[in-house]
Formats: sequence, C-alpha cells, structure tokens
Amino acid sequence: MAFDYDLFIIGAGSGGVRAARIAAGYGARVGIAEESRVGGTCVIRGCVPKKLLVYASHFGEDFEDADGYGWSVPKPSFDWARLIANKDKEIDRLNQAYKSTLAKAGVELIESRAELVDQHTISIGGKQVRAEVILIATGSWPELPKLPGIEHAISSNECFHLETLPERVVVVGGGYIALEFAGIFNGLGSKTTVLYRGEQVLRGFDGDVRNFLQDELVKKGIDVRCHTNVTRIDKVAGGLAVTLDDGTAIHCDQVLYATGRRPLTRNMGLERIGVALDDVGAIKVDGWSKSSMPNIYAVGDCTNRVNLTPVAIREGHAFADSVFGNKPWMIDHSDFPSAVFTQPPVATVGETEERARAKYGAVDIYRETFRPMKHTMTGRPERTLMKLVVDRKSQAVVGAHMVGQDAPEIIQTLAIAVKLKATKQQIDQTIAIHPTAAEEFVTMRTPVAAE
Ligand code: NDP
Repeated sequence: MAFDYDLFIIGAGSGGVRAARIAAGYGARVGIAEESRVGGTCVIRGCVPKKLLVYASHFGEDFEDADGYGWSVPKPSFDWARLIANKDKEIDRLNQAYKSTLAKAGVELIESRAELVDQHTISIGGKQVRAEVILIATGSWPELPKLPGIEHAISSNECFHLETLPERVVVVGGGYIALEFAGIFNGLGSKTTVLYRGEQVLRGFDGDVRNFLQDELVKKGIDVRCHTNVTRIDKVAGGLAVTLDDGTAIHCDQVLYATGRRPLTRNMGLERIGVALDDVGAIKVDGWSKSSMPNIYAVGDCTNRVNLTPVAIREGHAFADSVFGNKPWMIDHSDFPSAVFTQPPVATVGETEERARAKYGAVDIYRETFRPMKHTMTGRPERTLMKLVVDRKSQAVVGAHMVGQDAPEIIQTLAIAVKLKATKQQIDQTIAIHPTAAEEFVTMRTPVAAE
C-alpha cells in the first residue's frame, strides 16, 4: 500500500527537527507532528530559557563586584516581569526560526497530537496518515513523586512563567535542574532552600566536584539540606508549609520539584502496537536507534540513554544519515561532556575519579583550587576547582572536571583532548594562555593522590 510519507516524526524537539531536516535533504517526504511548540524542551522550557535566566541572576553579583574595580553603582532594582517578557520574546523568535527551518527543508509540520494506530499508521488531527518509517522523538516530562499536597508544587516548566519572583523558594532534588534553579532564584534575591534526600548533591559526579560545589552554593547563601525528605506540603496563610521527615516545617512561597524526568511515551499507542518499553517507559532501541519494530525508531530523552540536547541532535542526525542517506553511522555515547549551570557552574567530561579507579585501578589525580583572579579585587570568596584524572598505565587523560566561572566553555574544548585520548604529557606540552583560569589545566605538574 502506498505511503503518504517516507518518514513521519512524532515530536519537533531537538532530535526530531534535526532528523526531519537531514532526511528531507536526502529527498525523503517528511511529516512531523508537534502537540506543543516546535523546538521542544530545550528551546521552549529547558536549556535556552534556563540559560537566559542564569545570565539574569548573575547581574546582582556583578553590580557588587564592580565596586572593587572603582565603579559606584546605585542600588540596582530588578523587574521579574520584564525579564520574563524579554525571555518570551526570544523564545518566540527561536520557535519561529525552528518552524522556518522545517519549512525551508520541505518538511510538513502538523501542529497536533499524534498517536500510533499500527506499525505504519498514525492518527493525527482527526485523520490517519501512513508512513514507511516512523521516528519517535517525544522527549521527557518532569516526574513529581506522590505525596500529600504535591499539587501545590511546581516543576521547572512553570518556573519560566511565574507571575512574580517568589520571596522564599524550596527546591526539592539535588540534580541538574534543582541546582540550576536554586542558583537562579538565589541570584535574583529569593531566599532559597535545597532539600536533597541523599548524602551530597549531584550524585554521579566526581566526589571532589560534589564537595566543592556544595560548599560554593552554601557560600552564595543557599540553604542546602541533605538527608532531608518532604512528607507533605500544605497551603497556609501567606504561602506554603513544607513539612520535613524530622517533623519541622519550612514556610515558603513556591516549592519546586526537580526530582527527575520521565520519557514521554504514555498513551500514544506504542505498547499496543508492540513497541517494547523498559520499566520507566523508555523506548528500547539498538545502536541504530531502532525499536523492537523494524520500521520504528526513537531518539532523544524518550529512549533515556544520555538525556542531553546535543546527544538527541546527534542521534537524530545519525538516524537520518543511516536510514535515508545511505551513510550509516552510530553515535558514540562515551566521554560526553556536560555542564550544570549553577553559580559557579560545573562542567565535566569523561570518568570521575571514583569510576576511573574502578575501571583502571591505578590513577593519577591532578587537582588545583584557587581564587579566580577577578575576585582578588572584589573580595568575593568564590573559588575554582580544576581536576584531571589520568590512567597511570597509559597516561591517557580519562576525565576532566571543573567548578568555576566559564567551566562549560573551558571543558567543551578540553573534551576534544579527552575524546582523542590525549596523554598527560601532551596536555603538558600545550602552551598556556596567560593570565587565564584555563591555563591551570596545562600547568598542573604534580599528582596529588598516588596509590
Ligand atoms: P536528575 O536525575 O539530574 O536529578 C533528580 C534529583 O531528584 C536527584 O537529586 C534525585 O536524587 C532526586 N530525586 C529523585 N526522586 C526523588 C524523590 N522521589 N524524592 C526526592 N528526591 C528525588 O534530574 P533533573 O530533573 O534535575 O534533570 C533531568 C535530566 O535532564 C538530567 O539528568 C539531565 O540529563 C537533563 N538536564 C541537563 C541539563 C544540562 O545539561 N545543563 C539541565 C537540566 C536537565 P538521587 O540523586 O538520590 O537519585
């Protein structure tokens, strides 16, 4: 039977849009469905608006720091509504840019929810269409635990549209989103408390990074409470009361839950037509992003592999090249860099010290902590951490970690060296750019821990 499309994609986020554009470039007839806004989590309610809010939240310190450099700044004031309106304008611009990218590529956009009827049939906007190949790129959605009063809490989605800046915020969780928003609210002047159930925030990151960041967050004025669980949330006069497992309560104006995200795969016919999902609802795929059905593929957060925008984009690109471009390649998920846009930010690539010790046995650790040059004249107590993890036998640099200003910019470049398996000696041969913070990475001569 004839198909309406060579490829039909459900979800116009980072992964879906890249796959659509590349496949269309190979001459495929491509349709793409989006039930919300084109651009997906990253552009509409994730990385991009978050980074804009992070920029906004840093100005308070910048005004203070200017004093050490001879500037007298009158007491600044901040207007949340103006920030949100300007952010919305920029997101609208990007949304339009994504739409015009699709149009220019000849991709048909259908702004409606899509569901699978069978292996080749999609129900959308009151009609059914048929496609030879289907790509699911539906992303993920915040997951809030069930507890009394959870309906009073918000997720990161709502943070972008609050009418006012809350005076007091409680953030639950100790991962990327919790800490990034804690930094935003704290920087903008909200009294911010982070409640984390474990020993130390950022589980899975290098131990030194976790320690160091937690200290820096506390120095910034964030009240970080570990080993702390919420038992209930109640509406009370003047705000919300968050009751903790030790029986005490914190009063605040907003409670943000950032306790993880779940693949967005429910109620779209996947299980019914036989696409295998794992126990958290992620679509099971092979290295080619192919699901348990031979013509149905999936990329991005809905597969719960590495849930980062640039990874979803690569997965979408590899899929389109492989299936429509006769250029098969598989994405390599190893040694991916990532950043947490806290204040100061964290960035990391490759192995943590803990994982490297387990994997390689003997490792050499190079570590420096210092006060950034800028703050010698501001008096701010912020410090920077840099760390290299080296496999002692091969001398390959297998991990690089940083907490400090510009860490994401610096680690992005260092990630190339880690990916190319550069040795410590090769890094040492690199001439420093002076004076920078990044130069520390090429001048760390003596390992700190040898065992
Ligand atoms: P994370 O998985 O990073 O963090 C979730 C946090 O919530 C953890 O600290 C976890 O604790 C805690 N938690 C989970 N369940 C509960 C519960 N029932 N009660 C209390 N605490 C709980 O998820 P995020 O939501 O922060 O982000 C989702 C993903 O999105 C990230 O993992 C990342 O892949 C991506 N992302 C990337 C960003 C970037 O690149 N800068 C920014 C934002 C998101 P525990 O550690 O004990 O499990």
